[in-house]
Amino acid sequence: MKGLMQDWPLTVMSIIDHAKRFHGEREVVTRTVEGPIHRTTYADIHLRARKTAQALTKLGVKQGDMVATMAWNTYRHMEAWYGIMGMGAVCHTLNPRLFAEQLTYIINHAEDKFIIFDTSFVPVIEAVADTIPNVKGFIILTDKAHMPETKLKNVYCFDDLVEAEDGNFDWADVDENDACGLCYTSGTTGNPKGVLYSHRSNVLHALAANSADAIGLRSVDAIMPVVPMFHANAWAITFAAPAAGAKIVMPGAQMDGASIYELLDTEQVTTTAAVPTVWLMLLGHLEKTGAKLPALNKVVIGGSAAPRSMIETFERDYDVTVMHAWGMTELSPMGTLGAFKAGMEDLPFEKKLDIKVKQGRAIYTVEMKITDDDGKELPNDGVAFGHLMVRGPAVAASYLKGEGGQILDEDGWFDTGDVATLDPLGFMQITDRAKDVIKSGGEWISSIELENTAVGHPEIVEAAVIGIVHPKWDERPLLIVVPKPDTKPTKESVLAFMEGKIAKWWMPDDVVFVDEIPHTATGKIQKLALREKFKDYKLPSASAAE
Ligand code: AMP
Repeated sequence: MKGLMQDWPLTVMSIIDHAKRFHGEREVVTRTVEGPIHRTTYADIHLRARKTAQALTKLGVKQGDMVATMAWNTYRHMEAWYGIMGMGAVCHTLNPRLFAEQLTYIINHAEDKFIIFDTSFVPVIEAVADTIPNVKGFIILTDKAHMPETKLKNVYCFDDLVEAEDGNFDWADVDENDACGLCYTSGTTGNPKGVLYSHRSNVLHALAANSADAIGLRSVDAIMPVVPMFHANAWAITFAAPAAGAKIVMPGAQMDGASIYELLDTEQVTTTAAVPTVWLMLLGHLEKTGAKLPALNKVVIGGSAAPRSMIETFERDYDVTVMHAWGMTELSPMGTLGAFKAGMEDLPFEKKLDIKVKQGRAIYTVEMKITDDDGKELPNDGVAFGHLMVRGPAVAASYLKGEGGQILDEDGWFDTGDVATLDPLGFMQITDRAKDVIKSGGEWISSIELENTAVGHPEIVEAAVIGIVHPKWDERPLLIVVPKPDTKPTKESVLAFMEGKIAKWWMPDDVVFVDEIPHTATGKIQKLALREKFKDYKLPSASAAE
């Protein structure tokens, strides 16, 4: 027997409609790419999104077409985002940090019809313009006064387009399973692959993000997504915030410690989210200036493992609750968040940190398990580690145009490529990417745990660990560190610091000091580049074993 309830399609337009109707006055504050702080409201975003949809329709964009954006988090990006999705087209967020060849590949592969971008990306787009013949025109996210000089053809000014319309536009009649968003994963092997979100998957994910043990936004909150909209939907925040009626604070292009602090402070931000590198910069600024963050309640940290020392500093020195999160583009992107279970709040501080360094528990809508190399499920004892497998309604079923072939096993599980433990209370801990794990004497060493332990050293800013070929053990860990400015840590002091914090046989065989560690376009340590750089590196222990 079928239920007798209304068939109300789960579309992302219903989110911005709700925000306009019930939170129309709530602010969206932006540090604009042009410089000044700009203030608007959900009612106005809704109106200008409809005007965007009208303008795009006039430019010939049709339902199902791909329209790319290359933009920082700003109110205009949000207007374009809802305008594109609202007319039934697909908003393809481009990561400006990609190389020109990758952008060319992605734009052509997706068959983007228009590219909408910030003034700061004119040179990036100009560099690829001759290689993307399907793109019909370029829309620059600014007003007439700030339109830059460009040699691009068919260029439009976003504000001019929007202001020429009356907003009298009905959202497209879409099926909830229709595509509305596209984001390519910057895979380290092969070509980037497109994850194609549906209206339904995004709405379900926004609801899950807003549950109290997840990001859990409320209308009284002010949320600052520092994580970019081009990095997997700003972790659902551009959907979750309007659904809750929370104020949004958009940091634009300025993500240094001082700029982030200024917005957190002046806009009384209660919740914020970003990758660890952003928080390193903020904590550096706070340490230097002695500033505090009384309004801030919650910091969501994900994208890479949050080091224990970072969690400790936020919680102990700034009284901010850290929510460690794990996810990936293919998961819309959140999989787990580290909210405490009953009784954990009363544990001693160090025990609480032991829990917080784990990546957290699966949010509702995500199923999760770990398996061995033969696909056999491993125990959830917090010790065994294996391939992390997930499934759920906001998890990719395949990549755009079937790239990469079949990505689910016969029971619908997606192999994340991460290696993790799961404990009896459901807390998951990433030990590595499957390809980064160090295989020593038939056992696995977690590069992430070594990195997190090393950055606890007071003179280390960042650490990376890679496996180096070893004649006896197959591989042994090499620790690569960036010292803090004006300090000179030694190999001995670093290893002495790590002693007792990790298993003896996990101790790095050598430590090298570098000025900089390379990062991927989404802020992760570029292990591939490091492996390349150190491919001929000889560990002292290797010479001894030969
Ligand atoms: P992306 O699709 O670019 O968001 O990258 C997803 C990958 O980032 C995951 O498969 C993990 O390897 C890594 N990742 C994300 N969050 C975390 C975290 N909290 N700790 C460790 N690794 C993470």
